[in-house]
Amino acid sequence: MSIPASALITRPEELASLAHVDPEILAKIHAVYPLRVSRYFLELALQHGAPLLRQVVPDLLELADTATPADPLNEENLSPLPCLIHRYPDRVVLLVSRDCPTFCRFCTRKRKIGTAGMQLTQEMFKAALEYIRKRPAIVDVLISGGDPLMLADEALEQILAQVRAIPGVRFIRIGSRMPCMMPQRITEKLVAMLKRFHPLYMNLHFNHPDELSPEATAACERLANAGIPLGSQTVLLRGVNDSAAILQELFYRLLAARVKPYYLFQIDQVRGTSHFRTTIQSGQAIMRRLIGHVSGMAQPHYALDTPGGGGKIPLCPGYLDSLHEHCTFTTYAGKTGSYPNTLWPKSR
Ligand SMILES: *Cc1c(COP(=O)(O)O)cnc(C)c1O
Ligand code: SF4
Repeated sequence: MSIPASALITRPEELASLAHVDPEILAKIHAVYPLRVSRYFLELALQHGAPLLRQVVPDLLELADTATPADPLNEENLSPLPCLIHRYPDRVVLLVSRDCPTFCRFCTRKRKIGTAGMQLTQEMFKAALEYIRKRPAIVDVLISGGDPLMLADEALEQILAQVRAIPGVRFIRIGSRMPCMMPQRITEKLVAMLKRFHPLYMNLHFNHPDELSPEATAACERLANAGIPLGSQTVLLRGVNDSAAILQELFYRLLAARVKPYYLFQIDQVRGTSHFRTTIQSGQAIMRRLIGHVSGMAQPHYALDTPGGGGKIPLCPGYLDSLHEHCTFTTYAGKTGSYPNTLWPKSR
């Protein structure tokens, strides 16, 4: 692991005393779900309040939520190998770490993160590389986890080198919440290593404007300065960021830090996370207040990763009223209009 243990809060008693919550409640939850918060993020959350704290401090509602499936995306069955998810024709997710700097309470892989059984062994990794090498249709490898930046630089470098050496792989992505949870991990040494593997993209994860502290912003800038195009995914979370004003500010701050908002996810249906769920109607209402009103650069795709492992579907609200010979629409500002939806001339 690349991170000193002292940077992480893992004992329920310590979190209870720092965050002023009942230690018995935390101990109860800890018996079912792992607990970890980076010291950096907890300090930031204590300065800023509920929207950040709710993401990382366990809530008794986690235990009350028992009817929800643990693996609704069917990732276990879509995994041809323990560390590979192959759901779409041209891309795979390579899970290289089961660890994160913080265990987000709403995590889709709550069943796995921080538990045994997701550690990548050399044999598993070799088999995954072989799987990708044999399938030239796979052009995009998304290195994820857990958080890949939990690995030491040298271990991550080896993985990147071997993925990069597969001829069919056109570009690589790394998914990481490290710039948000532990910006100090984005060292000049790490960045100098990463930039040797271009074209390399990074998908970060930010949920609230207060997460873009000066340190987090500087970490994004170090990555951007290495020529790594940065995107961010955000999970729409009840009581955290389910408002157009909060998301607008988040997306502006991300763009100012040179990070393009990429996805706004409807939360997955995962056991222990239902108290964070919003309705799709409220998500679409938020998107309607962003589309047209704010810079197109500040608009992510609003999407749902469908239960059962069907893949992501767009949840963007519609603007077309009819789609016949004349297509009619209503604009973001409420004006109606039409567009000739025919070929002219009929043949060429
Ligand atoms: C989200 C996801 C991807 C990447 O999807 P994009 O829409 O290309 O960002 C790939 N594989 C799996 C299994 C995923 O869940
Ligand atoms: S950083 Fe991502 S993978 Fe890790 S706990 Fe948070 S949401 Fe889950």
